[in-house]
Amino acid sequence: MTTLIFATNNQNKVKEIRAVLQNGFEIITLKEAGIDIDIPEPHDTLSANATEKSTVIHRLTGKNCFSEDTGLEVAALNGEPGVRSARYAGEDNNFQHNVLKLLANMENTEDRSAQFRTVISLILDDKEYQFEGICKGHITRHQQGAGGFGYDPVFIPEGSDRTFAEMTMEEKNIFSHRKKATAQLIQFLNAQYGKDKS
Ligand code: IMP
Repeated sequence: MTTLIFATNNQNKVKEIRAVLQNGFEIITLKEAGIDIDIPEPHDTLSANATEKSTVIHRLTGKNCFSEDTGLEVAALNGEPGVRSARYAGEDNNFQHNVLKLLANMENTEDRSAQFRTVISLILDDKEYQFEGICKGHITRHQQGAGGFGYDPVFIPEGSDRTFAEMTMEEKNIFSHRKKATAQLIQFLNAQYGKDKS
């Protein structure tokens, strides 16, 4: 069994990643590792923030770990909210405020295209590796659905006519940015540990 600390306090992300993990891997949350900190995200890029989070946890524990940073990038808003997705409407990280601000800023916008982008930073045996997953789609005009979290009620992925918030977690994982980045992480780990690469 390969054990990795997942450097996040977001239980939704933990659930999503555990749902796509194969046998042979075990994810320990920060809480389960006995770590109680809010990891800073001070940088201008998803990649630098992901590195920051995994580095902080690696420094604290000396253990193999990974982190991820995700942003919603809206074409008509020049890539905003992007790296500021969690704090778009203010420091309180309130999902509902963020969604309402996004819809208001796009009220008169015809081009609704957007993408979620996830960057995973893995620190394995003291070396860092990064993996990226992108999910293209568009922003709805109103919120639809009660599931998921964050911007899920206003994002419809390409190939579907429902928002992420109208899908089960398994359905979301068919399209999800996080699933794509995680699949690369798992493939890499399987290769490192000499397991089946499928
Ligand atoms: P973080 O900085 O990676 O925790 O994520 C930034 C913000 O992006 C979160 O607070 C959510 O609002 C949003 N977000 C991240 N992943 C998703 C997702 O899968 N669906 C909807 N929103 C997400």
